[in-house]
Amino acid sequence: MKDSNFLKEKNARSLWHPMAHPADSQANPPTIITQAHGVRICDVDGHEVVDGVGGLWNVNLGFSCAPIKQAIADQLERLPYYSIFRGTSNDCVIELAEELRAFFAPDGLSRAFYTSGGSDSVETALRLARQYHKIRGEAGKVKFLSLKKGYHGTHFGGASVNGNANFRTAYEPLLPGCHHIPAPYTYRNPFNETDPERLAQLCLAALEDEIAFQGAGTIAAMIMEPVLGAGGVIPPHASFMPAVREICSRNNILLIADEVITAFGRTGGWTGSRHWGVKPDLMCTAKAITNGYFPFGAVMISDAVAEVFEGDETGKAAIGHGYTYSGHPVGAAAALACLAETRRLKVNENAAARGAELHAGLLALQEKYDVIGDVRGGHGLMCAVELVSDRASKTAIDKKSINRVQEETYRAGAMVRVSGPNIILSPPLVLTSDDVGTILTAMDKGFASL
Ligand code: PMP
Repeated sequence: MKDSNFLKEKNARSLWHPMAHPADSQANPPTIITQAHGVRICDVDGHEVVDGVGGLWNVNLGFSCAPIKQAIADQLERLPYYSIFRGTSNDCVIELAEELRAFFAPDGLSRAFYTSGGSDSVETALRLARQYHKIRGEAGKVKFLSLKKGYHGTHFGGASVNGNANFRTAYEPLLPGCHHIPAPYTYRNPFNETDPERLAQLCLAALEDEIAFQGAGTIAAMIMEPVLGAGGVIPPHASFMPAVREICSRNNILLIADEVITAFGRTGGWTGSRHWGVKPDLMCTAKAITNGYFPFGAVMISDAVAEVFEGDETGKAAIGHGYTYSGHPVGAAAALACLAETRRLKVNENAAARGAELHAGLLALQEKYDVIGDVRGGHGLMCAVELVSDRASKTAIDKKSINRVQEETYRAGAMVRVSGPNIILSPPLVLTSDDVGTILTAMDKGFASL
């Protein structure tokens, strides 16, 4: 193994990182991870920590899931690749589609369209939504609605419905006809409303208002995360998503649940939509579908939407969309093994139990440290703490200080992720109470260093 400085030098010279300034890896060399096992990662200097990030919200079953590794190895031997564009299929993608159909049956979703990741899934759902209305003879329904603070990947469509300027401004002009509704973000919102239920009502009123303003006849779909993730873990009030569902149905607007993070147990429910008692028309999945071991995703499609496509006799339903790696057999094999392990281990139950411990521990840290302005979580293993330099004015903390908390937390035994003023936690769903304790103790030391 090359030493740390050698790798950092080469990294700075030859590699640009996603979501980073290209010059940043020279000034602040990244932590170089070389190994992982269970819920722990190890860097090139031999420092081992609990992974509070779970890869990137995707390694739900940890880093040592033998059945997935074996399935990948076996499939590489048997059929390492073949396309599933019109005219060919393979046993693995067929078996997976049947398993996904069973898994998502309670969500009313029965058909799968494969992708190679979350951004691809979002792009696919947006395109299918427009096509759905065209098949039905409502070609004017082309616009999209979404939530401010929402994250939907970085393709042009996804960036257009994205609710964070950081992922938009440099790439404008984006897709026309994308309109954003205030997010039910209790800590900061334009209404100054601190009660989650009343805030949900205000955001819903804004949604109705925007639909009336744009005209329901111009809108194809509303896309939302059941719990907003990358935007800072924002769980809406329980009344919110069911009401969005009702408003969409009333206006013939498709509801796309972006469950790239929330599907497969992270919220404590098997899907975020199910957690809130909602059946979406389309659902975007990726990430934990293969436990992060292979780039793969699936858009799940409801019976009602599927029937419109399948019942078309005009040719309008021919799908002019797909990726070389749509239905990659190795990804499908990984997903099959992952789904079996995910269900066998009932990771959603552990997510709910450990998530409650983590959330309670973060609330206790808030009592101790004024710098913690807000603690969000309470729905499985996705939590965030939002840091402020002053609690009364809610002034966001400076970058240097939050990075210091992250670095000291890492030194003390846990990897956590900084996103704007938030520290985000999305550990593997298989972690133990002891691991939760390790994360909280390390964060305590991180905050004490300020
Ligand atoms: N949608 C959501 C809700 C996400 O969280 C992400 C990734 N964090 C994406 C889409 C994009 O996924 P990917 O990075 O795999 O393209």
